[in-house]
Amino acid sequence: MIGFTGAALLRGDHERDDPAAFAAALADPAARLLVLHNLEPPVADGRLALLPMDPVRGDALWLGELDGAPLFVVGAGDASQPAMRSPALMAILADLPADEVALYGIARSLLDWHGRHGFCARCGSRSEVTRGGWARTCSHCEAQHFPRTDPVVIMAVEYDDRVLLGRQPSWPPGRYSTLAGFVEVGESIEEAVAREVWEEAGVRVRGVRYVASQPWPFPSQLMIGCIATAADPTLTIDGEELEDAIWVDRAGVRAALAGEADAPFVAPPAYAIAHSLLRAWLGDADG
Ligand SMILES: [Zn+2]
Repeated sequence: MIGFTGAALLRGDHERDDPAAFAAALADPAARLLVLHNLEPPVADGRLALLPMDPVRGDALWLGELDGAPLFVVGAGDASQPAMRSPALMAILADLPADEVALYGIARSLLDWHGRHGFCARCGSRSEVTRGGWARTCSHCEAQHFPRTDPVVIMAVEYDDRVLLGRQPSWPPGRYSTLAGFVEVGESIEEAVAREVWEEAGVRVRGVRYVASQPWPFPSQLMIGCIATAADPTLTIDGEELEDAIWVDRAGVRAALAGEADAPFVAPPAYAIAHSLLRAWLGDADG
């Protein structure tokens, strides 16, 4: 299972525009409420803690239906100081069931977007929550704004049975991972993969293949995992985004994913799609 996927939530897009359906969901005695304090997950007994719904919460966002009952989310605390993706937060998520981690990711991204988008991007007037929480509408010009998802390509680049891994200066000692970067306006996934690998490592690629994707709620990326083939293994590292890049053979990747002490690098954690991508590359290479 790829991290932050597999939520058991029925999103109910048809009901979001229906005020009667929203009112009925609010009043449903089985409805439950997720409260994110500073965007952190509330946890009790190793599970995401859901409270009975408070129908007077006019600021609740309607996530959808979970286990046959409406589920809402509200924020608490200081929305301008959200919890960052810290080792402590990731340790909390590591102890939750995978479907609840995914549910938390949806709630966090949605709540965080509302917290940072209170004004219309077209005319600057204050906007209001609409569609049960899945849009904002300008109070002046009536423009609609929707929660954003920012596409990021992340790619395992291979050459002669080895994979290209890079290292950013801020990462923990020894950590290397697949290259990644935001898709720019007017680019296809294949073009973004080729551009990022060229910019960061000076390598031309061909044969970009899609593998899998992952929502990443810090704050709202969609990681698009690909495998591509390098035309030439010569590296020219940009020195800003990457401080180092290396080619690693299959034995080295296997050792790193297994957490072996003498592995050539420290692998990305299991919840990151880079980890899944390296496993997919091993599978591809093994045929
Ligand atoms: Zn406006």
